Amino acid sequence: MFKQVSFTFFWVLFFGFVTNTEAQLIDVNCYNGSLLSDIEFLPTSNDFELIIDGEKQKSAIVNSIYNITADDDSLLISLDFSPIKKAKNIIFKASNNCSFKIKPTLPLLSQRILEQSVLFTSSNCFIKLDNILSLDNYVAGVIEAEVGSKQPFEYYKVQATICRTYVLAHMRKHEKEGYNMCDKEHCQVFKGKSMANIDITKAVDETSNSVIVDENLNLIVAAFHSNCGGQTISSADIWNKAQSYLQPVRDTFCINSRNAHWEKEVSKKNWFKYLNKKFPQIDSIKFPRNFNYAQPIRSKEFVVKDIKILLKDLRSDFTLKSTFFSVEDAGETLIFKGRGFGHGIGLCQEGAIRMAKTGYSYADIIHFYFKNVTIVNLSKLFFFKDLD
Ligand SMILES: [Zn+2]
Ligand SMILES: [Zn+2]
Repeated sequence: MFKQVSFTFFWVLFFGFVTNTEAQLIDVNCYNGSLLSDIEFLPTSNDFELIIDGEKQKSAIVNSIYNITADDDSLLISLDFSPIKKAKNIIFKASNNCSFKIKPTLPLLSQRILEQSVLFTSSNCFIKLDNILSLDNYVAGVIEAEVGSKQPFEYYKVQATICRTYVLAHMRKHEKEGYNMCDKEHCQVFKGKSMANIDITKAVDETSNSVIVDENLNLIVAAFHSNCGGQTISSADIWNKAQSYLQPVRDTFCINSRNAHWEKEVSKKNWFKYLNKKFPQIDSIKFPRNFNYAQPIRSKEFVVKDIKILLKDLRSDFTLKSTFFSVEDAGETLIFKGRGFGHGIGLCQEGAIRMAKTGYSYADIIHFYFKNVTIVNLSKLFFFKDLD
């Protein structure tokens, strides 16, 4: 599922000699997937340099409305509704961490507050909108969008380290589209500047430059999910790719949390219809009409009589919250009794939150869920990798 890029390779491509994540810039495609035809840009200070097709213009004027409008294969930029120029690309470049408001008006989408720089590009008669900001500002925005503003401080440090590791391992994920990350679940959810809880930016600052590596000093696939139901699962059982650090962990921290249990009823009619479709070559009449299925510890496959189905397939085919479930026969229906929420690989968020609340450090939490890993400073990692 995830392709690990060799550290040395992407270092050369993207880092140059930058050894700190405050200076590392990330290009995030915003409103990804929306066909944007008109956008308002509202600077909140005079610190934005306007660059049109590579040519510097006058600085942006605070509290003015700049409209960027798609015009065939170009963009038209207007200031307070008076046209300025047609162009292929338009940049508002911030001289520091100042923020701006952005509001798509065609289609009408919610306003966001972003920080640092923005690049508008004409793309197939629509507008491509990229926010270019420091890695740590991006990490803070992702944490707020992904886990909200009410989590314990030590847990924010866990998320910051995981998120930073993920980004640096996937800088080329959208190389073909011309940016580093999209703003959706496909990469990590990003809705703009983190503002709701000062602890988030503090946690990002305190862990700045920290990333997680395996025994070979490769950045790990920092997988996480909502709740493991009491046990995480090996990546080999879900993604068919074994990783030394993504091994099953017994987890008692999450078993009383919100997503620890779930139930779903499936009619037997639908169940047998499914079996007939999935196994046309098997006489499903031989499959017992009444059966129970138990999964006391996590398995890879559902096995009853001669039928074997990958649990991950059952999860997606019946939209179940997890692969960690048992089945009880209730006459006309089957009751799926499940534990946990998500794929179950790597860090269990609700368990990690509980650990943070009970006094474990962010490093303890990371080492509990990821085996044989080390939290290292990027600059030291560069030093060691360079000796290879
Ligand atoms: Zn993406
Ligand atoms: Zn758990």
